[in-house]
Amino acid sequence: MTDYMDISEIIASSGLSPGDDDLWRDHHFDWKNADTWVPRLTAWLQPHFRKDFSRRLRPGQERDLDMDDLEWFSILERCLKGNIDDHLEQFSMALESSVMRIYHGCRTEDAGIYFRNGLLPHDQAILEQRLEAILARHPELEVFRANFEQRINNIGEIDKGCLYGVIDDTCLLERAAHYLIYGSEWLCAVLREDGRHVLKEIGAPTLLEVDLPLYLASKSDRRELACALFTEWTRQVCNKPTQHHQIDFTFAIHSSIPSSCIVGHRHPKTLIDPLSGYRSYVSPVTYCAYCA
Ligand SMILES: [Zn+2]
Repeated sequence: MTDYMDISEIIASSGLSPGDDDLWRDHHFDWKNADTWVPRLTAWLQPHFRKDFSRRLRPGQERDLDMDDLEWFSILERCLKGNIDDHLEQFSMALESSVMRIYHGCRTEDAGIYFRNGLLPHDQAILEQRLEAILARHPELEVFRANFEQRINNIGEIDKGCLYGVIDDTCLLERAAHYLIYGSEWLCAVLREDGRHVLKEIGAPTLLEVDLPLYLASKSDRRELACALFTEWTRQVCNKPTQHHQIDFTFAIHSSIPSSCIVGHRHPKTLIDPLSGYRSYVSPVTYCAYCA
């Protein structure tokens, strides 16, 4: 039996329709769990395989390549008929009807806010109100107030109307846990080293789990995701790894995410603080009003 027969039989037994964009309609998948998307992408790709794709792909035969080696994408390109950019374009459009698990880091006293109101984009007016509330609780920070206006002007309009979510919480927790330790990046930037420690007194580090309808993602982010899925599909089919590719992939979303998409939350206790020389940070609080 050839590997080609293996893939055909897998598709036949799964009941998936080869090449059908509707394979992705309302389909929920998770980057970290390849079983939720590799079989479906195998079926979607099938009509595009060249006759000798199995010889070119060598499924199940391990290659000594790094997870992020661009060669994985090139291998798939050599296995497909036509132009891979056209397939990427079609796949990224098909993904628009699917739903992907993403993660959002924040610091909050009550994660119930997100389960009630959803995730809202960066709104400077709300953050300025929160800054005033922090100053009211910490009069010792008043001495820095004179600098705040200049600091706010220096920050400019970064993140305006935008919110971020990643497809792999591993990278978020290892490299960008300041979003959980301090919460708002804007508040952190305004308070700077002088005063950002007070942000660690508010609530608990929180990781939200979100099922993101991919129509909310930008076209360019969807296309980049399609490329990452093509690349990782090849590695999964060839090397059959036990570990997922720990990827640094962020969606920049320019709208709110409805509350119905917020599916879970947790409060990690120990984190690595990139703003403090990557030292370990242990949160004294690991609950919020929602889960207490
Ligand atoms: Zn909680």
